[in-house]
Amino acid sequence: MPQAFDTVTEFFEHACRRLAVSMEICEIVRTPDREMRVEVPVRMDNGQLKVFIGYRVQHNGARGPYKGGIRYHQEADVDEVRTLSALMTWKTALVGVPFGGAKGGVQCDPTTMSKTELQRLTRGFTRAISHIIGVNRDIPAPDVGTNAQTMAWMMAAYAEEHGYNPGVVTGKPVELGGSLGREEATGFGVALMVGLASKDLSISLAGSTVAIQGFGNVGSYTAKYLHEHGCHIVGIADVKGGVYNAKGLEIPALLVYALQHSGSVAGFPGGEPLTNDELLALPCDWLIPAALGSVLRADNAAKVHARCVVEAANHPLEPDADLVLAAKGIPVLPDLLVNAGGVTVSYFEWVQNVQRFSWDLERVNNELTNYMQRAYRAVTNRARAERISHREAAYLVAVERVVSAVQLQGLP
Ligand code: NAD
Repeated sequence: MPQAFDTVTEFFEHACRRLAVSMEICEIVRTPDREMRVEVPVRMDNGQLKVFIGYRVQHNGARGPYKGGIRYHQEADVDEVRTLSALMTWKTALVGVPFGGAKGGVQCDPTTMSKTELQRLTRGFTRAISHIIGVNRDIPAPDVGTNAQTMAWMMAAYAEEHGYNPGVVTGKPVELGGSLGREEATGFGVALMVGLASKDLSISLAGSTVAIQGFGNVGSYTAKYLHEHGCHIVGIADVKGGVYNAKGLEIPALLVYALQHSGSVAGFPGGEPLTNDELLALPCDWLIPAALGSVLRADNAAKVHARCVVEAANHPLEPDADLVLAAKGIPVLPDLLVNAGGVTVSYFEWVQNVQRFSWDLERVNNELTNYMQRAYRAVTNRARAERISHREAAYLVAVERVVSAVQLQGLP
C-alpha cells in the first residue's frame, strides 16, 4: 500500500498541474513547514514509567495559524499525522476559514489507560509542544481518541507556562470557553452535505437508507441528524462490531445503549449483528465511513452497493478505491468538504475566545450552514464546469486559495 502522505500529495500535484502552478510554489507547499517528534514520559498508575511518542506536524500556515486535531491511537505515526496535516491545509482553505493545516498524534491506546494516566500524558505532550502552539501560531482540537476533556487538560497545561488563553485549543468544554455546537458540528455538517447531495442526486432524503462505519463523535451525531431528517440508518459498525436493521435502527435508543456500553453499538438488541466488511457492502443510498482511514481499497470498493459514498472520516478511501467507485458510477463526496464542519465551528470558537464574546447555538448553526453550503457549491460547480470528480474539484478550489496566499506573501 502506498504511504498515505504520497496519495494525498498525488491529489495535490494533480491539482497543481491543472492549475499550472509553478514548480517552486508546488515544492514549497507540498511538504510540511515543520515536523516535531517528542518523547512524553508518563508515570503510570502502577508506578512504572512509560515513554510515549507524540508528533505535531505543521503543514502550511500561509492562510493563518496552523489548525488541526490531536489523535490518540496506537497506530498514530508520522506518516499518518503528516497526511492529516496536509488534509487540514486543504480543508481550511476549501471551507474558507483563515487557518493553515496541522495535525498531532500520540502513539497510545487510550482505551486501556485510566483518566489520570491520560491527564498526565496530555499535560506532558502539551508541555513538549507548547513552544510551537499558541492562539496565533497553532491551535489543536480533538480527533480520534481525544475529546473536550483532553482539550481542557491541554488548555490548563498551556496556561501554566503562558498564562490564561482559551483560544489556544478548540473543542473545549463550554464551561471553559468552548463553543455551543462544537461537539456535534462535524456530524451536523455531514448530515447537511447529505441533504444537499440528495437534491443533486435526486434521492429523496426522507426514507433513504444509510450505513455508517464508526459511532464515535462523528458517526453518532451523523446518525442522530440523519435519523431526525427521516433517513433509515440500516447499519452501523464500530471497532467492536456492528448492528443491522433493514427497517432502520432506533437511533435515540442506540445512543443511550452506546453510552452504557463504552461507546460501542455491538450487541444492541434492536438489530442483528453485522461485521465491518458486511457494513461496507450493504445495499443503501449513503455509505458513510466515519471511523479510520484507508478502509475502502480496490478489493472491497468493488463490493460497495451504495448510491453515494460520503467521506465523514479523513482519508477513508485509497486512490484505487476512487477509481473502482468511479467505474461503478458511484459518486464520492470528499473528506475535505464533508467533515469540515468541525474545523468551521472550531474557527467560531476561536473567534469567540479572541473576542471574549459568546454566540448562541442558533448563530453557530446558521453560520456553519452558510460556510458549508458555500463550500459545497464551490465544489459541485467546479466539478460540473470542468467535468471532474468532487475530490478533484475540492482540491482545485483549495490548492488555488493556498497557492494564491503563498504567492501574495512573496518568495524568498
Ligand atoms: P472517535 O474516536 O470519537 O470515534 C471513532 C470511531 O471509529 C469509534 O466508533 C470506533 O469504535 C470506530 N473505529 C475505530 N477503529 C475502527 C475499526 N478498525 N473498524 C471500525 N470502526 C473503528 O473519532 P471521531 O472524532 O468520531 O473521528 C472519526 C473520523 O472523523 C476520523 O477519521 C477523524 O479524523 C475524522 N474527523 C473528526 C472530526 C471531529 O470533529 N471529531 C472532524 C473532522 C474529521
